[in-house]
Amino acid sequence: MTVIAIRELAKQFGDQVVLSGINLDLAQGDVKVLMGSSGSGKSTLLRCLNRLVEPTSGSIQFQSKEILGPNVDVRQLRKQIGFVFQQFALYSHLTVLENVTLALRKLEGIGLKQANEKALHELAQFDMVPHQSKYPSQLSGGQKQRVAIARALAMDPAVLLLDEPTSALDPVMSRDVGELINRLHHNGITMICVTHDLGLASTISDRVLFLDKGIIRADERLDVLASNHSDPELQAFFGKRE
Ligand code: ADP
Ligand code: MG
Repeated sequence: MTVIAIRELAKQFGDQVVLSGINLDLAQGDVKVLMGSSGSGKSTLLRCLNRLVEPTSGSIQFQSKEILGPNVDVRQLRKQIGFVFQQFALYSHLTVLENVTLALRKLEGIGLKQANEKALHELAQFDMVPHQSKYPSQLSGGQKQRVAIARALAMDPAVLLLDEPTSALDPVMSRDVGELINRLHHNGITMICVTHDLGLASTISDRVLFLDKGIIRADERLDVLASNHSDPELQAFFGKRE
């Protein structure tokens, strides 16, 4: 089953074309890795999917319904399409547990006891129950990202979008979060993950979408992309890492 179908999506900021002619299908249980140079439009593409950015033209269907247009319940959409940010975006004045329960209580209207149970269930998956009463400033980067992912999953989203989830982490923590994302994939969570991290990309998928100046230039096996020595853009991106 197709969960997300993007057709001819385009976005301009003023005169600047940031995305054009984007077509993408995401099936239930799929994980897509999106790579590309800084400024190629990766975050903008993810943000279009939950209406943090309004596309200029094109169509996005989520579970066979158009999500662009005036009569869409954006709050509902954001419950179903979870987002994990590079910088974690945790509330610094709330504990780990409160960070995870907040949306359950405010958006879902779930009572405290039930919200705590649900949150602890998610935190347990990531070994974060012992840290439930800490504040974000008392956590390592990897722990913060686990909480951010647990918070997104607590809403039982149909799709999880991750925007460079390991870019603020050191290599050991990156690997840890990579393994966690991989586990989610094996558990059937549908995801799009933007990353610069070749290790993370190869941990979670053997295929990569390569975005270049707002166009999907390739949907290809990672090893094929990384060993392409004729395309200057691919070489510039993958070559310098070897
Ligand atoms: P990436 O995530 O691949 O690094 P982005 O999607 O963040 O790229 O940005 C793509 C381009 O769009 C960049 O040139 C950026 O400056 C521009 N851009 C992103 N968001 C905005 C905005 N809100 N207003 C104007 N320009 C923007
Ligand atoms: Mg970005």
